[in-house]
Formats: sequence, C-alpha cells, structure tokens
Amino acid sequence: MLFIPNDGQYGKIFLKGDIAMYKTRKNDNNKLQYFNNCMNGEMRLCSNMKRDLRNAIENEEFFLCYQPLIDIRIKKVVCMEALIRWKHPRKGIISPMEFIPIAEETGLILPIGQWVLKTACSQLKEWHDMGYNNFGLSVNVSVIQLQQPDFAETVSRIIAENRLLPEYLELEITESAFMESARTVARNLNSLRKRGIKVSIDDFGTGYNSLKYIQKLAVNSLKIDKTFVYNIKDDINKVIIDAIISLAHKINAEITAEGVETKEQYEYLKKKGCNKIQGYYFSKPLLPEEAAEFLKINSD
Ligand code: C2E
Ligand code: CA
Ligand code: CA
Repeated sequence: MLFIPNDGQYGKIFLKGDIAMYKTRKNDNNKLQYFNNCMNGEMRLCSNMKRDLRNAIENEEFFLCYQPLIDIRIKKVVCMEALIRWKHPRKGIISPMEFIPIAEETGLILPIGQWVLKTACSQLKEWHDMGYNNFGLSVNVSVIQLQQPDFAETVSRIIAENRLLPEYLELEITESAFMESARTVARNLNSLRKRGIKVSIDDFGTGYNSLKYIQKLAVNSLKIDKTFVYNIKDDINKVIIDAIISLAHKINAEITAEGVETKEQYEYLKKKGCNKIQGYYFSKPLLPEEAAEFLKINSD
C-alpha cells in the first residue's frame, strides 16, 4: 500500500504513513487515505498514546468486558468473548480499535495480550467455581503474539495455573495472521490444537485468502464478520453467508455469526444452520458482574 504526504514534507513519512494506515483501516473500506495537515494533530495524539500505553498495564488501566456467544438451538451461553477496554486517566474509555494497532506497532501487545489471557482465564475459573461451568472463553490474539516461538507454551502455562481444561479456551485470530511469519504462526497454531486449545478465525471473509491454511490447520470454527450480517438484506451478503456456512460445515468447523442485532438476522442465520450467534440482539459486551447476572439466567 502506498501513502503519499501532500504537504511536501517527507521527513516523517513513516509515522504519517502509520496514521494514514490507521485511517484506512478505520474507514473500513480499504480506500487509499492520503496524509493531510489535519492529521498532524493526530500524529501528536499518536505519540502521546504510545507514551501513555507504556504505563497503562502498571497503572492497571485496562479492564475486560465479556460478550456472550449463544448456541442458536438451545439459546444458552456457550462461550464468552473477552474484549479489552482502556480506562485512560484523562481521556476516559478508549476502544481497542484505537489502541490495539498502536500496541501492535510498539510491541506492547505482548504484555497486554498476556494480561488479557491471564485475566480472562482467572475470570472463567471464578465463574466455573460459582457453578456456571458449562461454557468456555474466547480471547482475541494478535499475529504479533503468534509470531513468538514460545506462545503455545505460554498459553498452556496460563491455563494450567488457573486449573482449567484446555478445551474451554478458544483463540480468535484474523485471516491476516496466516500471511505473516507463516512458519512460526503455523507451528504455534498446530501446537495449540494438539494441546486441546481451540482456534477460530475471526472476521472471516474480509481478509486474505486463507482457504489453503484452513485445510492444513483444521480450525475449530469460523466467525462470519459483522459487515455481512449488518447488510443481510442485500442478496450478495446472503450468498456470502450461505457460502461461509456451507464451507464451515464441510470442513467440520462450527460457525459463529457476530454483530447480530435483529430478529430477522437471527432467524435467517438459524434457518441456514449457523451454530452460535453473538451480538446486541442477545447482549452487548458486559462487565464481569453483569456477565455473572446474565449467566444466572442464560447458562445451562
Ligand atoms: P472483534 O473481535 O471482531 O470483536 C467484535 C466487536 O464487535 C466488539 O467491538 C464488539 O463490542 C462489537 N459487537 C459485538 N456485537 C455487536 C453488535 O451486535 N453490533 C455492533 N455494532 N457491534 C457489535 P470492540 O469490543 O470494540 O472490539 C473491537 C476489536 O478490537 C475486536 O473486534 C478485536 O479485533 C479487537 N480486540 C478487542 N479486544 C482485544 C484483545 O484483547 N486483544 C486483541 N488483540 N484485540 C482485541
Ligand atoms: Ca473477536
Ligand atoms: Ca470479528
């Protein structure tokens, strides 16, 4: 991808490229975004954010929300997805969409990712001990984490420390993870699968062509991206959803749809054989105490 500054200064092209890249990602339509003077302010914000991010773990500024994944047939919680939030001391709550790309760029995603795994596993253990023990946990994992040669061991250790069974943990990765450092990533994913940890492909259908990797790695589930679900009224999105569900079933993978907000979307996905759904139709991401209340009513 090419980023072109239009202010005649090339000195900070890389940082400007970063900002333009975040913008392009955020716009979510992959259209080329030129760097412009309005983004100068953002460049300052970005380096402030890097600075603040470094202190955020130590200052305990992160917290996790949990969003239920519901089994479409029995309408019970079968999993909770851990979603990180940053409570910035001056700026308030910052979305992961804002700071995860910066954490990835600075390498801070490694300690942050480890904190997420530890915190979520310890929370799951707490819920299991409360008697809600028929559901698992899914955790988003960045490709930077998967590139670490000892990642699978680290995950196993965290599971063991929390006395959880490995099958209760599912790691969500995006398709782009397959494209980078393919060998280490594949080794880690295979090792995780051998240890009984589940692997799911997030935002399926939006990224690179990962079909050949799916075949090699035997993933447990595919997650249909919410953009297809939002626009389910369009025939083309119906065709894509049908194709993803049929592919998942053929490779013995489960299928989850995210971003389900309406009864219409829910009914369509149920009719087509989708296994799990996640979205505001059932629940927004919840704080741990709210999630415990939700489990009281909706778990098996
Ligand atoms: P994701 O993994 O695709 O997570 C789903 C996002 O969709 C979440 O946004 C969730 O709040 C939102 N969502 C769920 N249901 C609905 C719905 O019905 N309608 C709408 N409009 N939105 C819905 P969130 O929590 O802001 O997370 C955004 C992204 O940040 C995640 O997308 C994930 O890629 C990343 N992320 C979150 N937590 C972590 C983490 O611990 N580690 C890493 N590496 N990435 C994370
Ligand atoms: Ca996810
Ligand atoms: Ca997703």
